[in-house]
Amino acid sequence: MPLVPMQEILKDAKEKGYAVGSFNSIDLQMARGVIEAAEAERAPVILCHAEVHFKYTPMEKAANILLHEASSAKVPVAVLLDHGKSFESAIKAMYAGFQAVMIDGSQFPYEENVRLTSELVKVAHTLGAAVEGELGRVARPRSGGAEGQEDDAVIRDTSLYTEPEMAADFAERTEIDALACSFGTVHGVYLEKPKLDLKRLNRIAELTGLPIVMHGGSGLSQEDFSDSIKNGVCKINYYTNMALATAEYVKTKLLSQERAFYHDISQWSIDAIREDTISAIRMFGSSGRA
Ligand SMILES: [Zn+2]
Repeated sequence: MPLVPMQEILKDAKEKGYAVGSFNSIDLQMARGVIEAAEAERAPVILCHAEVHFKYTPMEKAANILLHEASSAKVPVAVLLDHGKSFESAIKAMYAGFQAVMIDGSQFPYEENVRLTSELVKVAHTLGAAVEGELGRVARPRSGGAEGQEDDAVIRDTSLYTEPEMAADFAERTEIDALACSFGTVHGVYLEKPKLDLKRLNRIAELTGLPIVMHGGSGLSQEDFSDSIKNGVCKINYYTNMALATAEYVKTKLLSQERAFYHDISQWSIDAIREDTISAIRMFGSSGRA
């Protein structure tokens, strides 16, 4: 039961009321750590690679790694391009083997986002691939700790939040398979405690009928996750916490030994990714769902 379409994974999550983790995996170690965690927890997972990380691992190389790891997994795994910046990169990703693509048109004016996203959906659906769109903006506050384009936005700038009625129109006109929306989370590290607008989230899920995607999942509480899942979130993007925790673990291990080899670093990385991913999977309620 290895590589499966993201639509299938999200359908099960929506029906049964849990969320699937989408874990950014920039190399083989990360992908292996995530798959080991998913197999240990018998959980479906999404392996993803973000365009902002192409500088570390180009798309085609990442596609080979992620598809290979997904194909040999003992649990359902979908492989997704995360935060595709353009129509062209989303097409290239599907050509490279990604069977799900996220197109982030949220920085464009509404009509431009609709046009870009719906054009991509036409091509993707012809190829049997899924599309995740974004409406409203999940900010990336300055000094937020995760790389990428930083925003001047502050966490509680509600003008960036997704409008439910607009989301319904967006879903209908684009025919996307999943919707990333903004209701109080941010990318990177939280500099203040987030306050989620669950009413808004619930209304968006109800009006669109779509699996809702939470971006900025690092640093939220169990209660935040559970409440979000109850109100429509079926997929949670998770990276920052895992990346920081793994680097911290490797640093501690290195400092504690007189001599280490590169292969030690590689193995420590896999171990740390696996442990952090296991705790995320448990918080998302996806353990035992595979
Ligand atoms: Zn994101």
